[in-house]
Amino acid sequence: MVDVVVKKSSIENLGLFAVRDFKKGEVVLRWDLSHELQKKDIIKLPEKEKKYVSFHEGKYILIQEPSRYINHSCDANTKAEHFCDIAVRDIKKGEEITADYTEEGDLLGKTVPCHCGSKHCKKDLRL
Ligand SMILES: [Zn+2]
Repeated sequence: MVDVVVKKSSIENLGLFAVRDFKKGEVVLRWDLSHELQKKDIIKLPEKEKKYVSFHEGKYILIQEPSRYINHSCDANTKAEHFCDIAVRDIKKGEEITADYTEEGDLLGKTVPCHCGSKHCKKDLRL
């Protein structure tokens, strides 16, 4: 892991930060796909693991470290595409890597308040 580092975040506890500049469209992180789940397995996961399940391109993936530390932002600087996190704008060294979790759909049927601090904040997150 040379491109990103886990550090204390102002959004929530720990976050993932860029240790170099990324250009718009560049792959920031490739997902670890070693933990693909079936839908029926998700319900058996411990409660604290469930929030790390992502439904993406027809697969349920249990997100591994360090991707787990990516915080949500309503004004995210990455998007998920083909099991990678892609920069949607230029990201500067030292910036926190964020993703918009609401785009991954309504997996848990839960709504939690958002604290991302963006001026475009949607306030409620559907997970
Ligand atoms: Zn927000």
